[in-house]
Parts: sequence; C-alpha cells; structure tokens
Amino acid sequence: MPRVAIVGAGPTGATLALMLAQRGIPVTLIEAARDFQRQFRGEGLMPSGLGALTQMGLDSLLKTVPHRPLSAWEFWLNDRRLFRADEPLGSSRPCTLVSQPPLLEALVQAAQRESNFEWIAGTAVKDLLWQTVGEASQSENRVTGIQLADGRTIVADLVIGADGRASAIRQRAGLTLETQPKSIDVLWFKLPAPPGYAADNRFCTVVKKGRVFSLFHGAEEGKMHLAWAIAPDEPTEQKDWAKTFAALVPPEFVEHFQSAGESISSPMRLSVLVGRCSRWHCPGLLLLGDAAHPMSPVRAQGINLALRDAIAAANHLIPVLKTTDAAAPDLTALDRALASIQAEREPEIIQAQKLQAHEAGRGELLRRFGILRQGLSTFSPILGLLVKQVWTQQQRPLREGMTTVRLQS
Ligand SMILES: Cc1cc2nc3c(=O)[nH]c(=O)nc-3n(C[C@H](O)[C@H](O)[C@H](O)COP(=O)(O)OP(=O)(O)OC[C@H]3O[C@@H](n4cnc5c(N)ncnc54)[C@H](O)[C@@H]3O)c2cc1C
Repeated sequence: MPRVAIVGAGPTGATLALMLAQRGIPVTLIEAARDFQRQFRGEGLMPSGLGALTQMGLDSLLKTVPHRPLSAWEFWLNDRRLFRADEPLGSSRPCTLVSQPPLLEALVQAAQRESNFEWIAGTAVKDLLWQTVGEASQSENRVTGIQLADGRTIVADLVIGADGRASAIRQRAGLTLETQPKSIDVLWFKLPAPPGYAADNRFCTVVKKGRVFSLFHGAEEGKMHLAWAIAPDEPTEQKDWAKTFAALVPPEFVEHFQSAGESISSPMRLSVLVGRCSRWHCPGLLLLGDAAHPMSPVRAQGINLALRDAIAAANHLIPVLKTTDAAAPDLTALDRALASIQAEREPEIIQAQKLQAHEAGRGELLRRFGILRQGLSTFSPILGLLVKQVWTQQQRPLREGMTTVRLQS
C-alpha cells in the first residue's frame, strides 16, 4: 500500500496519522520537537472539536487527559459585567479545555500500537524530495518524500504538511499563504488560580482602559491563564504585572492579583498569524490545519478546524490509498483527492476566519472608544440581556461548525 509521510504531530498530524494507521495505511509521522511540553499549545475545544474526537472513537482516550469544561462566558466592560452566558449555550456539550501535550502524547501512543505506524520525534523536516514524472509533454514535478535535518530521507507517495502556521513544507512546496493584516500578538501568563475558580470556570473577557484580555482556569489543576492582547509592534517591557492586572481585572479577582506577585509566570509572546493558502496541494503533497490556514485564537477555532480537516482528509484519502497498488499507485486519483479535500474544507475555513475577525473587530471597537464602553457598561442591566441574546446566537457556527463533517469509515 502507498506510504504517507505526515510532517508535524499537532492536532492535525497526530489525529490523521492515527486514523490512517488504524485503517492499515503505512504512515510515518515526523515531529520536530522531542516532546510536546516545550511549546505553547491552545486548550479550548468547542463542541465541534469534541464531536470530531468522538467520531474518531477517542472519547475514552480524552477521559485520560486533563480536561475541564467551561461553566460560562463573561464579558466585563470597565468594572461592570455586561453579561454572563452559561455553557453549553444550547449545544450538546460545553466548550472544554483540554491539555494538549498529554492529548498529543496519547494520540501518538495509540498510533504506535499499529504495526504500520512509524514515529520520528526530535528531528525537523528540512526539505522535500521531488521527481519529474510522465512523458516530456505532460511531465510534472511531483513530491516523492522528505529530507530530515539529520540527513535521512523518507520516500512517500503522499506528503502531508501539518507543520503549523510557519510551515516549512508550505514554503518548500512554493504554496503561497495570503495573510490578513496583523492586528495583535498575545502575551500569555499563568498563575495559581484563586480558590473556588475551578468550580465555576468562567472565561472572562475584559475591556478596560484601552486593554483587552481574557482569563480562565486552564485544564491543568489549579492554573489560571491570562491572555493579554498587545499590538504587534508593542514592546514587551518589564512591568509589575501583578499590579497592572490588579487594576484591571473584575472586582472579585483584585485581591488575588494584588497578592499574586512573583507567582505570575513570565509572559510568553505569541505571534498571531491569520491567513489562507489559495492552493493547499501540489502533486504528491497536501497542506492541512494551520499550515494551510493559520487561525486566530479568537473563540478557539484552530484545533477544532484542524480535527475536522483531518476527518475530511481521511474520508477522501482512505478509499484511494486502500485501492491503490504500492508498486504502481494511481497518482491521478490521489491528486484528485487532494483537490477534493481543499474544496470540501475551504468554505468552513473562510467563514470561520470571517466570524473570528468580526468578533475581534467588536472587541477592538470597545477597546478604542471609551464612550461606547461607558454607555454599554452604564446600561448593562438592560443592554446586557440583549447583547447576550445576539452574541449567543452568533456563537452557534463557531461552536458547532459550519459544514457537515462525518468520518465515513
Ligand atoms: C495564542 C493562541 C492561542 C490559541 N488557542 C487556541 C485554543 O484555545 N483553541 C483552538 O482551537 N485553537 C487555538 N489556537 C489555534 C491553534 O493553536 C492552532 O490552530 C492549532 O494548533 C493548529 O493545529 P496544527 O496541528 O495544524 O498545527 P500545530 O498545532 O502548530 O502543530 C504543528 C506541529 O508541527 C511541528 N513542526 C513544525 N515544523 C516542523 C518541521 N519542519 N518538521 C517536523 N515537525 C514540525 C511543530 O512542532 C508542531 O508540533 C491558538 C492560537 C494562538 C496563536
């Protein structure tokens, strides 16, 4: 059977590798990092992402990974709560924070139980292997494998670039990423959570004094996260962060931040890149997840869409790979499948990025215009109910997904 090489063991690569391996397709999964602990990885899974994991048969695996449902979403303007919307907001399950490092580890371990799965960690993929195939008039350049940083080469009938937003595979394949203008970076902090927060884990978004930030209790026991939006060109100067936050957080957290002091971690600066490749594939190669369409962190979409990409890819690839002869694979059918995957997934990605931009735009309006903030906050007892109703309705596509994604086999 043809061999597939998947570059990157984030949510896209790890789940697709597992699904292919479980269906008897030889897969090599290559991950640059030695382990999953080092990098920052988002935690928010929407009902659509949780549903994708269920379809993959991973509910029991998910139970073994630290996770924590959200209780509600709260929006704070100045020192007033505009509204609180309780999870699951009409969905069948609540938005849930899932610790990614153990999830990815568990996915790779599950794949390692399949005899046709190969795992290479701690080595980056450096380049693509190419071959010119076909008769002179109809010849084409085809990706035929990858080269690792340690010099090894892996020959594959299909290479999948699931190597995230800075994808080296995308660059090597010459597939162009069209990016949206950069609007924010994020400084990410962790600190001990206040007692009792876990029991009522609100995702609080605060707009106050020209700042927008969010706080919530993460998947890990006792850890509060604070995501602080900054302009991309804003320097990360050393600040007394505890004092800065204490002046801005909702009243119930002020005391906690006043005494947080040194327990607030040094910030991690995360650059936010949003964009889309107009073409996700070339002969012998497919981009998926952030490599094809890097997502903004707004309303936790990236992992969910990545998991749905993986399902769509499995649906199109498995029938072709299973009927293909390893000695003479049907490359035309394989390349047709790559185009079908992009055609199926692109509308949802376009829509999700639009909705994310819309949400971010509203936050930016409130951040910039104090008078708007003041008006909404003053009349929050009346306006809050209305805004909550509209907001809750608008969340549906971002929570449930915008197209039907069903794992077929
Ligand atoms: C600040 C921030 C917060 C976010 N929070 C959330 C959230 O809560 N929920 C959500 O749904 N989304 C969130 N996102 C988006 C989400 O993180 C991504 O959309 C998602 O991780 C994409 O998954 P992926 O598998 O495509 O790529 P990634 O998760 O980026 O995984 C790519 C993998 O490829 C590996 N790799 C890279 N280069 C190479 C190479 N050359 N060779 C081999 N391996 C390589 C990397 O080490 C990595 O493990 C957030 C994004 C940001 C910026």
